[in-house]
Amino acid sequence: MAFFGNPADDILVPFYIVHSDKIRISSIRRQSLIKYFKKLRLFTFFVKFTHKEKLTKYISMNMTRNEAIKSLSADKLWDIVVIGGGATGLGIAVDAASRGYKTLLLEQYDFAKGTSSKSTKLVHGGVRYLANGDLKLVFSALKERGLIFKNAPHVSVVQSFVIPSYSFFSKMKYLIGLKIYDWMAGKLRIGKSTLLNKTQVVDSLPKIKTAGLQGGIRYYDGQFDDARLAINLAQTAQEQGATVLNYSQVTSIIKNAQGYVSGLQFVDNIGGKTYQVHTKAVVNATGVFVDDILKMDSIHHQNLVRPSQGSHIVIDKSFLGDHDALMIPETSDGRVLFGVPWHDKVLLGTTDTPLNAHQIEPRPLEEELDFILDTAKDYLVSPPTRADIKSIFAGLRPLAAPKSGEGNSTKEISRDHKLIESSSGLITITGGKWTTYRKMGEETVDLVAKKHHLPPEACKTHKLHLHGYSLEKLPGHWQVYGSDFAAIKELMSSNEDLAQKIHPKYDFRLAEVVWAVQNEMACKVEDFLARRIRLLLLDAEASWEAAPVVASTMAAQLGHDQAWIEKELSTYRELVDKYSI
Ligand SMILES: Cc1cc2nc3c(=O)[nH]c(=O)nc-3n(C[C@H](O)[C@H](O)[C@H](O)COP(=O)(O)OP(=O)(O)OC[C@H]3O[C@@H](n4cnc5c(N)ncnc54)[C@H](O)[C@@H]3O)c2cc1C
Repeated sequence: MAFFGNPADDILVPFYIVHSDKIRISSIRRQSLIKYFKKLRLFTFFVKFTHKEKLTKYISMNMTRNEAIKSLSADKLWDIVVIGGGATGLGIAVDAASRGYKTLLLEQYDFAKGTSSKSTKLVHGGVRYLANGDLKLVFSALKERGLIFKNAPHVSVVQSFVIPSYSFFSKMKYLIGLKIYDWMAGKLRIGKSTLLNKTQVVDSLPKIKTAGLQGGIRYYDGQFDDARLAINLAQTAQEQGATVLNYSQVTSIIKNAQGYVSGLQFVDNIGGKTYQVHTKAVVNATGVFVDDILKMDSIHHQNLVRPSQGSHIVIDKSFLGDHDALMIPETSDGRVLFGVPWHDKVLLGTTDTPLNAHQIEPRPLEEELDFILDTAKDYLVSPPTRADIKSIFAGLRPLAAPKSGEGNSTKEISRDHKLIESSSGLITITGGKWTTYRKMGEETVDLVAKKHHLPPEACKTHKLHLHGYSLEKLPGHWQVYGSDFAAIKELMSSNEDLAQKIHPKYDFRLAEVVWAVQNEMACKVEDFLARRIRLLLLDAEASWEAAPVVASTMAAQLGHDQAWIEKELSTYRELVDKYSI
């Protein structure tokens, strides 16, 4: 199968043919595929359901910027334009497009470049919100956890967590709490919390300190790859009819004579051109950046949020083991700290440090790193030191900004999300969790449809399989590609150069770079190394060592020259410094 040629135009794309129960992979020119696709829809109407499932699941139109930009004709009236390509914005775009609304999503950097690629990677109901008595949030998050497992099984897994206990009282307290947690998940329960004796805790967490250990509890929650889910949401939105564009920064909001939002202006940060688009509704889903957009809407806007930073460190799995995750329910500052196996490493975090300003790439503070390492020291027999850290990363939560007269105190905008309607018709959504992205999308689109008089359509995302959906268990990191794996494998067997590893210590291959450029809208070296594969977050220096071969492969695919490669590498080194210690 050929995949090459100029990706900007009428390239060859993978094409899957269902024959009996087998799927044959071939290639076809994209323009022809689009024509055929319409006919195929008719055809699939007649084929047996199982075959139809396979056809619609396996035919993926590649997600490229050039195609997306072509759909931006000046006279087009969108139903919804979503600003922000993190979990929240992408969830809204999938929901809106699947209801049939004309949807455009604009992200100023790459999809999930903000907090949505820097979470603790848990698909969870939030055990600690249970302790706070926030039952509504826990119920809703547990349901959403179950739906992520059903709709995106290729990027999510059930993870067992062990809470070590050092007193009989705490053991019983957590057991009761977790039994309630299990019960609240109802039919979507994913495991049964159990009491463990001391030996069982040591079997599960071989590196745990045993002095004073009374036993513990094992419970079950979910774990996922946040940036991969974001990319799959962007692909799903596109497959449902949305236009999604990364590197597209909204710079101003356009209003009509009555003062209602009627469009916006954005800059294509790759091509450099400025665009104006017209729309019935605009949704501001920009995380900690919501105030910047609200100020474009009204110069009198008072800040709604103040960021609080949560940092993580990544270490070798030998410090913990690669099966059970560690949950420390009460650290010295009263927070929860997790040690979670992730892509053959262990991630430790997180913290909660209020900041005065937001930025897209916050760097963990020295005191946060000390806090995580000190907490690990209390629980692990041979705790990691600074020299053992492979990568560090931080995300920002939106806290409620203090009002004048309130001093410097901050309080969290509830972990539940908030929907805010401006008098101009702009809808803003902030807060929430990755786990609840779907529900947030549903509520936002319900509100937009009602306020902006869109034809009523019911939400369809409860049962919508996301791009890559597959129940097949694939080895190692290949798992995250789900149904796309077959095509990447085909790329490697059709061209042995593409089967080369990008780094001797890791199993990532050149074929993945080509795939990410042609199908996942990767435009920069960072897009690939940080979010298409997660090497920047797993081993920052190794990602730097892999950067030159990634840069030259991307340049060949995208038609860039040596100057582009050099500039990319120097920008990427600056980023690696933020993830290194
Ligand atoms: C440390 C930490 C750990 C977490 N762990 C978990 C977890 O384990 N599980 C869980 O369920 N939740 C977790 N969360 C919560 C979850 O990560 C967030 O709720 C979610 O990622 C927020 O997504 P978002 O889309 O609202 O914001 P973001 O991901 O920040 O996305 C906003 C986007 O808007 C874009 N943008 C801003 N301005 C513009 C503009 N002018 N034009 C175009 N685009 C613009 C930004 O570039 C950004 O990409 C965690 C949060 C933090 C901080």
